[in-house]
Amino acid sequence: MTEPLQQLQQSLKGQGSLTRPRQVVFSALLGREPQTMAQLVAACASQIDRASVYRTIALFEKLGVVQRLQIGWKYKLELSDTFHHHHHHLTCLKCGRTTPLPEDKQLESRLQQLAKAQNFTMQGHQLEIQGLCRDCVRSR
Ligand SMILES: [Zn+2]
Ligand SMILES: [Zn+2]
Repeated sequence: MTEPLQQLQQSLKGQGSLTRPRQVVFSALLGREPQTMAQLVAACASQIDRASVYRTIALFEKLGVVQRLQIGWKYKLELSDTFHHHHHHLTCLKCGRTTPLPEDKQLESRLQQLAKAQNFTMQGHQLEIQGLCRDCVRSR
């Protein structure tokens, strides 16, 4: 079993075994940029049905395997920081593409400081920059 799958099994704990739908959905998320539910359903369509994808995502969210990236009133899904390196995103408001930003240690520690100054212990955060990507700026 690959390492990510072992991690997944640990996260599932008392929630049953690594069933096929769980493996399929997990593989569809692994190493990918954030996807909408529709994209995810499409990616799994040849192997499991829509209802199974929804059910599995609901469980994954509850267990912290998956996190939502809120984009306006919509959202995309990606694996949580347990499964891939913590990062921030750029989202293009025109074409909807989401791309990762390179890690910035200064920004990370600044966020820690800001939270700490409010006597708040930060356990995680999400950060997303919204705007227009290069292609969309050009085609305007
Ligand atoms: Zn764009
Ligand atoms: Zn961060």
